[in-house]
Amino acid sequence: VPARLKPASAVTSICGYCATGCQLKLHLDEQGRAINLSPQAGYPVNLGMACPKGWQALDPLDSAERATVPLLRDETGKMLRVGWAEALETFASRFKSLKEQHGRESVAFLSTGQIPFEEMAFLGCLFKFGMGFLHGDANTRQCMATAVTAYKQSFGFDAPPYSYADFEESDVIVLVGSNLCIAHPILWQRVMRNRRNPQIIVIDPRATETAQAATRHVMLKPKGDLSLLYALAHCIVRDGRIDPASIERTEGFEEFSAFLADYSPLAVTERTGMSVEEIESLARTVSEPGKRVSWWWTMGVNQSYEGVRAAQAMINLALITGNIGKPGTGANSITGQCNAMGSRLFSNTTSLVGGHDFAVPEHRAKVAAGLGIPEEKISSEPSLAYDQILAAAEEGKIKGLWIIATNPFHSWVDSGRLAALREKLEFLVVQDMYYTTESARAADLVLPAAGWGEKDGCFINSERRVGTLKKVRQAPGIALSDFRIFRLIASVWGCEDLFVRWTDPEAAFRLLRDLTQGRPCDITGIEGYEMVDGLGGVQWPYPAREDGAPTPASERRLFEDSVFYTPSGKAKLLFSPPAPIPEAVDREYPYTLLTGRGTSSQWHTQSRTGKSDILRKLYPQDAYVEINPKDAARLGVKEHDMIRVRSRRGELEASVYIAPTVKPGELFLPMHYPEVNRLTHSSFDPHSRQPNYKACAVTLEKVR
Ligand code: SF4
Repeated sequence: VPARLKPASAVTSICGYCATGCQLKLHLDEQGRAINLSPQAGYPVNLGMACPKGWQALDPLDSAERATVPLLRDETGKMLRVGWAEALETFASRFKSLKEQHGRESVAFLSTGQIPFEEMAFLGCLFKFGMGFLHGDANTRQCMATAVTAYKQSFGFDAPPYSYADFEESDVIVLVGSNLCIAHPILWQRVMRNRRNPQIIVIDPRATETAQAATRHVMLKPKGDLSLLYALAHCIVRDGRIDPASIERTEGFEEFSAFLADYSPLAVTERTGMSVEEIESLARTVSEPGKRVSWWWTMGVNQSYEGVRAAQAMINLALITGNIGKPGTGANSITGQCNAMGSRLFSNTTSLVGGHDFAVPEHRAKVAAGLGIPEEKISSEPSLAYDQILAAAEEGKIKGLWIIATNPFHSWVDSGRLAALREKLEFLVVQDMYYTTESARAADLVLPAAGWGEKDGCFINSERRVGTLKKVRQAPGIALSDFRIFRLIASVWGCEDLFVRWTDPEAAFRLLRDLTQGRPCDITGIEGYEMVDGLGGVQWPYPAREDGAPTPASERRLFEDSVFYTPSGKAKLLFSPPAPIPEAVDREYPYTLLTGRGTSSQWHTQSRTGKSDILRKLYPQDAYVEINPKDAARLGVKEHDMIRVRSRRGELEASVYIAPTVKPGELFLPMHYPEVNRLTHSSFDPHSRQPNYKACAVTLEKVR
């Protein structure tokens, strides 16, 4: 029997990829080193299941591409191995020098939803309160900013209201811009466990794996979603299929009703590509009296130039039909990264740590007191958002950048701009597990970081459940956990006095937990990591109770009886007219490019999953493009021919995959290939500043 099949013991840990938050059982040898894993049976999230990424979670830790020692670029451009002392002295002296010469807005950080929230919070507090800079954002801007803004504006707090159990308790499940089958495969399994014979409706321009498995696929035109959602609301209000009691809990119904007058089914046929009958039928299905209707969305909505209003259009539909706060209902954003929800509460980027607001003086005073730092260390000025940071770098205003556990040189829209921007930066630091990401290759200094499995901390999943991850491996070489790196930076910067209480991740957890007191995300009832594990994860809110009893499971779904978090206690119905697609097709660029996840076996830019032999075998390693058979015939291309896809910003060559999964005039490229974002367009939602990855104009030509 191989040694890896004879574990000496086991611990549990939350998976480090997607926001489903599956718990894995890590099998340990005599030395406490993980040698194998299996999905944890009985965990209320994954119920003993895992997707290919989870099963292979240990593989990427052993990659030869791991960053093992700091690397520093010399005058000739060569990267040299250096010790931590030299690396950190250089880090501090270069960033201090920029601050002295150009002020506190001259350096920014870009971080991640992939590290424990104790580390995110440490980074945000260190950078802003300790090092005294202003601007930092996370890659959650690329996936979740839309949902954050939509919930904040509509509910008064960023509070996705649901539990995963709602998938199993719904009569009508509407998935908008969500390929759940492959993006969140375990959540799709939760849908499959629904015994109410639900209607599963997928609204998506592409016939995704999920659309093909649904009971109804609404194959609308790209970015026709907002018009369609308004037309559904138009029909529902017109026909009186509303819930008056639920509408009593809202503000703005009269204005919303008047606005909807312009969005009859007939008025939106051109924009949506749908017939009047299809829209009327869908409106009846999502407002069936007595039926539990749940709305779910992911990146097809979030990654849009008008994602916030589209998300709020679903929130409005849930509110006016009484589908909020009850089992099997809700307007529910499914998060992307394993700790995007932790980032939303604790990253101290655009929101003040612990679910607070930089602009509110009482919040600043409370956080300062909680962290034991002088109040004047917390500025009321807001940080620039991700795109604004990059724009400021292009203009030469931001001269130093610190990138932590993310890979914008691959993942950012119109990524060719990053290469040009790199020339403007005076100092680029990348802190990562690997030397080989596109961003690490561009760095002046690489700080080698431990990865998932090599450190402790907590993630928060999509249904607001806090779970723990465990250290079950030593990081290679002299790589350190991000937490340890931040402690060392505090010391070399000379601000360690502000962080004496941040001794280890669990101490930081307690500090952060106490900051949430009285906020909607209150988790003061959690004693520590052991309690989180003992309870099978803990969904917020989980306030300390006088009787010491745990918060009952019935309170895990928000807004059943409770008021909303707005000043009036009512939810706001928010809306605005749909805008044109920022880059529509024309004679020169006649195809609409759609991008998205291509497989359940790869993750984002493949930084980690690309290091697993098994996962690589499950997915093509070279880019492919899905095109409609009619377009293939017109272009004279066959399956596996090479085709050039060109936008106004860049081009790539990809192998042809012919399928009616996209309509004529549309094509799909999976986002996992580094070339893809050379094509995408720099446009942003005006409310959330989230980039629009989902529709831009391209042209195609056969490669001779
Ligand atoms: Fe579960 Fe997501 Fe991890 Fe897959 S990647 S095992 S679905 S948490």
